Amino acid sequence: MKGIRVAIVHNQESKSVEVTKRLTTLLEQSENKIDQDNPELVISVGGDGTLLSAFHLYNHKLDQVQFLGVHTGHLGFYTDWRDYELEELVESLCNDHQKSVSYPLLDVRITYANGKSDKHFLALNESTIKRGNRTMVADISIKEDLFEKFRGDGLSISTPTGSTAYNKSVGGAVLHPSINAFQLAEIASLNNRVFRTLGSPIVVGHHEWVKVQLQQSTDYLVTIDQFTIEQEEIDAIYYRIADERIHFASYRHMHFWNRVKDSFIGEE
Ligand code: NAD
Repeated sequence: MKGIRVAIVHNQESKSVEVTKRLTTLLEQSENKIDQDNPELVISVGGDGTLLSAFHLYNHKLDQVQFLGVHTGHLGFYTDWRDYELEELVESLCNDHQKSVSYPLLDVRITYANGKSDKHFLALNESTIKRGNRTMVADISIKEDLFEKFRGDGLSISTPTGSTAYNKSVGGAVLHPSINAFQLAEIASLNNRVFRTLGSPIVVGHHEWVKVQLQQSTDYLVTIDQFTIEQEEIDAIYYRIADERIHFASYRHMHFWNRVKDSFIGEE
């Protein structure tokens, strides 16, 4: 990657602002160029949330753009570089163009009960559906077949890289990011003699899709990563692995399970 166009997305923490200034100077002193509108590389400076924001800013250019995360707080899942390694990072941009990795994304399509046009989103971590403070009732199908009738607080549908985020908090499994599949986890399902769901998270293959057919059409909160979409009149939501993937540049290999251990367990 010699002389590439770089965009920087940072959060408002003073450390991130200072790191962004240093990084901009280093990039301009090398053969690279800052280009916020038409970048080949997007660098996020902050935490996982900043990388999620960067992804949503540039998710219409996924075939042209690679991402890279610098963390200014604790080690993140999408942020491989530390704030004191900026010289090394700029150097690696010039030399290590082979080192990239890509991860699956979640394709979300919402259809409406009132005939409104479908809406389409991409999620890097997950999408959730909840119904205000009332019970959500939905038929869940895998491909064409009804799988279960769900009653409860809601559902979380996550990517492998999102499996360590909200999914983990609702009892989902942590998936290695090389697995090309998505996970459906229940949020407080109602299980008794009348209503019955599987009660455990399921991992759905990349050639399959999940349809969540809602029984009432109002009061739903749908999230796509950090965004909440308050939609009225939803009919159904379809989930599958997207055709697009997110590409990370200058990827530094850290054993995935070491990262999980480092983040959630720590030293004995
Ligand atoms: P935020 O700033 O509150 O971030 C929440 C935490 O999630 C941060 O510590 C962040 O580092 C971590 N995180 C984000 N993506 C991760 C990933 N893939 N693996 C492990 N940890 C990850 O919120 P935000 O910045 O707006 O980020 C939105 C994300 O936060 C959502 O996509 C969701 O996954 C997560 N979240 C989690 C919970 C929960 O666990 N109960 C609740 C709300 C949101």
